[in-house]
Amino acid sequence: MKDLIILGAGPAGLSAAIYGIRAGLDLEVIEKFSPGGQVVNTYEVENYPGFAEPIAGWELMSRMEEQAKRLGMNLANGEVVSLNKDNVKKCITLAMADGSVREARTVIAATGASFRKLQVPGEKEFLGRGVSYCATCDGAFFKNKVTAVVGGGDVALEEAHFLTRFADKVFVIHRREEFRGAKILQDRALHHDKVEALCCNVVESINGSERVESVTMRSTKDGKQTKLECDGVFIFIGYDPITGYLPAEVLDANKEVAVDMRMKTSIPGLFAAGDLRAGSVRQIVTAAADGATAALSAYDFLNTI
Ligand code: FAD
Ligand code: NAP
Repeated sequence: MKDLIILGAGPAGLSAAIYGIRAGLDLEVIEKFSPGGQVVNTYEVENYPGFAEPIAGWELMSRMEEQAKRLGMNLANGEVVSLNKDNVKKCITLAMADGSVREARTVIAATGASFRKLQVPGEKEFLGRGVSYCATCDGAFFKNKVTAVVGGGDVALEEAHFLTRFADKVFVIHRREEFRGAKILQDRALHHDKVEALCCNVVESINGSERVESVTMRSTKDGKQTKLECDGVFIFIGYDPITGYLPAEVLDANKEVAVDMRMKTSIPGLFAAGDLRAGSVRQIVTAAADGATAALSAYDFLNTI
C-alpha cells in the first residue's frame, strides 16, 4: 500500500509529487492521458514566475515532469473511476477504468477542470490559434485586435473587461437579453466604450483558414444569421470540475471539492489541489501552490496515524 497516490499529472499533481517525494513519501502519480494537464493546450505561458521570456505550455510542463522524474516520480497511466474510504483497512481505495483496484493511506485529487465547450465547428480546430478559454493567459496576444467573448456570466463579463486592456474592440455574444453575471460586473464591462453586447445570439461556427477570422451567429429572436469578423474568440460558458469519481460528501453545489486552507477534504486522508477545488482562481501557479500544500498536509496526516 502506498503512502500517497496523486490523481492527475497537471501542475497541481506534479508539484504535489515533487513535494511528496522530497518529504520521503512512497507515492505514485496516476494520469489518464499524458502528463502536463490543460497547460499543454496553450501556445505560450508568460505569467508563470521564473521565466523572463514566454515559455511554450508543453515546455513548461515537460520541465515540471522532468523535475519530478529526476527526484524519482513513479508515474502510472490509468483513469480513476471511483474513490472510497475503507474504514477497516484505514485507507482509501481507487477503482480504475481497467478494473484494477489501488490502495493508499492518503490521496490527493488533482484531476483539474475542463472548460465547458460550445461544441460548434471550428472551436477545436482553432484552439490556440484564436480560440481561447483564458483571457488572463492569452489576452495580451490580442493587442489592437478585435475579439469576441461568448457567455453572459460573471466570468464572461470579468474577462471581457480584462480584454479591453489589449483589444481595440470586444464583442460580448450572449444567448439571452439578460446577463446572468452580477450587476456590478455588467456595469463595469458593458458600459466600457470598447465593449459592445450582441444579445440574443448563439454562435454556430468559428471560421478562418490559419487563424480565426470570423464567427457565424444566429439570432434567437428572428433566426437571422450574421457573420462577425474578429481575430479571437474567448469562450466563457462555465466550466466543469472533473470530480465525478469522488464521493458526493466532499463536493459542493457546483461539484467542486470543498477544502480548507490545507487542502483537506471532509474525508480524513483525502486532499484536493488545483482547478477542481472550490475557490480556485484556475492558474498554473496557484495549482502548483495547492499541490505543494496538499502534499505537506498528506505528510502531516501520515505522521498522525
Ligand atoms: P489540469 O491541468 O487540468 O491537470 C489535471 C490532470 O488530471 C490532466 O492531465 C488530466 O488528464 C488528469 N485527469 C483528469 N481526470 C483523470 C482521471 N479520472 N484519472 C487520472 N487522471 C485524470 N494558466 C496560467 O496560469 N497561465 C496560462 O497562460 C494559462 N493558459 C491556459 C490556456 C488554456 C487554453 C487553458 C485551457 C488553460 C490555461 N491556464 C493557464 C489555466 C491552467 O492550465 C490551469 O489552471 C491548470 O492547468 C490547472 O492545473 P491542475 O493540475 O489543477 O489541472
Ligand atoms: P455561469 O455563471 O454558469 O455562466 C455561464 C454563462 O454562459 C451563462 O450566461 C450562460 O447563459 C452561458 N452559457 C452556458 N452554456 C452556453 C452555451 N452552450 N452557449 C451559449 N451560452 C452558454 O459560469 P461562469 O461565468 O463561468 O461562473 C462560474 C461560477 O463562478 C459562478 O457561480 C459565478 O458566480 C462564479 N464567479 C464569480 C465571480 C465574482 O463574484 N466576481 C467571478 C467569476 C466567477 P445563460 O445565462 O442563458 O444560462
